[in-house]
Amino acid sequence: MIIQLEKDISHDQKKKLQEKLETINYKGNEVNTQFGDYIVAVGKKEFDIRSIGTMQGIRDIHRVSDPYKLVSKKWKVNDSIIDLGDGVKIGTGHFPIMAGPCSIESEEQIESTIQHLVDNGIKIMRGGVYKPRSSPYAFRGLGMDGLKKWYQQAKAAGLKIITEVMMVEQIQEMADYIDIFQVGARNSQNFNLLDALGEVDKPVLLKRGISGTIDELLQASEYIFSNGNEKIMLCERGIRSYEKAYRNCFDINAIAILKEKTHLPIISDPSHGIGVRKFVEPVALASIMGGADGIIMEVHQTPEKAFSDGQQTLSYQQAEKTYAKIRKTYALREEFKRM
Ligand code: PEP
Ligand code: MN
Repeated sequence: MIIQLEKDISHDQKKKLQEKLETINYKGNEVNTQFGDYIVAVGKKEFDIRSIGTMQGIRDIHRVSDPYKLVSKKWKVNDSIIDLGDGVKIGTGHFPIMAGPCSIESEEQIESTIQHLVDNGIKIMRGGVYKPRSSPYAFRGLGMDGLKKWYQQAKAAGLKIITEVMMVEQIQEMADYIDIFQVGARNSQNFNLLDALGEVDKPVLLKRGISGTIDELLQASEYIFSNGNEKIMLCERGIRSYEKAYRNCFDINAIAILKEKTHLPIISDPSHGIGVRKFVEPVALASIMGGADGIIMEVHQTPEKAFSDGQQTLSYQQAEKTYAKIRKTYALREEFKRM
C-alpha cells in the first residue's frame, strides 16, 4: 500500500497515521523524495482503505500488491519523465539516443565522439571511466582524470554525460561531472550502491543483472526510489543463456512487460544485448517496437581499435544510418499506437 502524504502534513497527523497502521498490523516506511512524501505500508490484513484515505494530511492512498511498490504502475497513472535540463527529457513521449564508446580512452577520442554526436543531433554521450572487466588485466578505465576532461569538452558542446559508477565511494566525486549515473549489470543488485544512489538528486540508469529476472530488476530500482530518488530508468541489456552464438540473450519480452509493470522509462542497450556489431541495428529497431523509451549504444571512430567491446561497437558511418532508422522506427511505432 502506498499512502501519499500532503506536503504540509503535521507531526501529529503522521503519528496518528502510524498508530492506525499498527492497529491493522501494517508496517509503515516513510519515503521522502525530490517529488513527494509517502508511507509505504506492508501488511496482510484486509481493511477498508477509506479509513486511512480520509485521515488528515493524506493526499491519496493506493493498494499495490506487487513486491515492488513505488516503481509499480499500479499507483501512478502517468509515466515518469526525467528532465536532464536544456530540453533533454527521457520517458514516454521522448526518445533519446545515448551513444559513445564503451570506454573513454583519450582526449582525441572524446573530441571525435563529440563531433560525431553533435553532427547527428545526439544529446547524451555514453562512456565508461570505471570499467567492470572480466579480467583484472584488461583496461579498467581512465577514472576521475578522464571524467574531468570529458566533462569539460561535453559541457562546451552542450552534451549530457552518462557513465558507470561502481562503488559507493565514487558517487560524491563523480556527481558534479555527470548527468546520469549508470549502474552496470554486475552491480544490479549491489544494494548498498543502490541505497546510496537513492540519496543523490541525479538520474540513475539501472541495468538488468547478468541473469536477473524482471522482478529482481524492479525490486532493485525500488531501493533507489525508497531512499529518496525518483529519477530512475531501467535498461534491458540481455541476460545470460546457454547460447554461444551471441554474447547475451536480448529480451524484448522484458521491455514489453516492464512497460506494463512500471512507470519508469525503459532503455534498450542492443550493443551489449547481442554483442555482435552487424546485428546491433536490427535488435535496436526491434526493441523500439517492443516499447523501449530510448536506446543506448556503443560507437567508436575505429571500433577495431577500441579498448573494450570493439566487436559490438559501430563505426560512425554505420551508426549514422542506424540513428536515422531508429528515428524512423520510433515515429512508425508512435503512428501504430494511434491506430
Ligand atoms: C557498458 O555499458 O559498457 C557495460 C559494461 O555494460 P553492462 O553493465 O550492461 O555489461
Ligand atoms: Mn561496453
